[in-house]
Amino acid sequence: MAEVLVLVDHVDGKVRKTTSELLTIARRLGEPSAVFVGSGFDAAKETLARFGAEKVYRVESPEVLEHLVVPQAELLAQLVADKAPAAVLVPSSPEGKEIAARLAVKTESGLITDAVDVQAAGDGSGGVATTQSVFAGSYTVSATVTKGTPIVAVKPNSATPEELAGAAADEVLDFTPSDAAKGARITESKPKQATGRPELTEAAIVVSGGRGTAGDFSKVEDFADSLGAAVGASRAAVDAGWYPHTSQVGQTGKQVSPQLYVACGISGAIQHRAGMQTSKTIVAVNKDNEAPIFELVDFGVVGDLFAVLPQATDAIKAA
Ligand code: FAD
Repeated sequence: MAEVLVLVDHVDGKVRKTTSELLTIARRLGEPSAVFVGSGFDAAKETLARFGAEKVYRVESPEVLEHLVVPQAELLAQLVADKAPAAVLVPSSPEGKEIAARLAVKTESGLITDAVDVQAAGDGSGGVATTQSVFAGSYTVSATVTKGTPIVAVKPNSATPEELAGAAADEVLDFTPSDAAKGARITESKPKQATGRPELTEAAIVVSGGRGTAGDFSKVEDFADSLGAAVGASRAAVDAGWYPHTSQVGQTGKQVSPQLYVACGISGAIQHRAGMQTSKTIVAVNKDNEAPIFELVDFGVVGDLFAVLPQATDAIKAA
């Protein structure tokens, strides 16, 4: 069975959920082989094995991560040449998409970004059939790669991770980035202040607040915490300085695609929709029953968020 390469997304060996999703998808296409770059492999190995990685190719050299994404594209290109995988899967994050694009150029392969579903093509060709979210989630299209090795950037929450033990047999690769890949170097990196909440782009549930919070996000945060959700914000809330810029959802913010998105005091401007309309279930709390967000929702609550959210929080805590 052909290998399917999965680029591991991790922080010091703590593997992000997107990787277990990609390993689950990889099993539909062939035999999952994880590609692990950086330190912390001992911590990562158990998770990679648990979600079915049969092999792990790893590179420990700090140089690969020091020079942003270009060396990772070179590494994957080398693996594509050596292993002739059935496909390469990466997270559809800004970094993942840049790696995927550079890899596609290097290997003269077709590229699909923002895939929300990936299956083996049913025609026995060994190809890959994807559903792709385009125009900021306004359309979904069926797409397949017709040239080279299919390279697919998959959106978070596109698959439910399934546990199935793999061997995770690791092979340390001898890889040195080319001089051309070392054009830029990270000189300092500082971890974000930990909130204890899941990462916005990979959370299964996101609760966002907008101008309707009038700057008081406490009810939004309490509700989010009762659900184990990440907290997002509209640009109006971010521009007003009420919530960090890193939490902005939308066209010029982050794209999220959780199982459940709850918009609180957000009108539903097109630029906000662009970041959240591929969410599986959308709920809005808004006191204006004509707010455009209600055109989009699966469930809507017309009411004051300062009255609705505490009641919902209490009900969830009591359940
Ligand atoms: P508003 O549109 O003011 O809506 C507030 C809502 O809260 C209203 O519907 C109101 O009825 C409701 N409300 C008020 N009080 C309460 C209450 N107590 N309880 C319940 N409901 C209440 N926006 C983004 O979000 N993300 C982006 O990435 C983004 N990118 C942009 C890029 C460009 C180039 C441009 C031009 C704009 C962009 N915007 C973006 C801005 C966007 O157009 C809207 O201005 C913004 O999304 C509005 O934020 P909002 O819904 O919080 O505020």
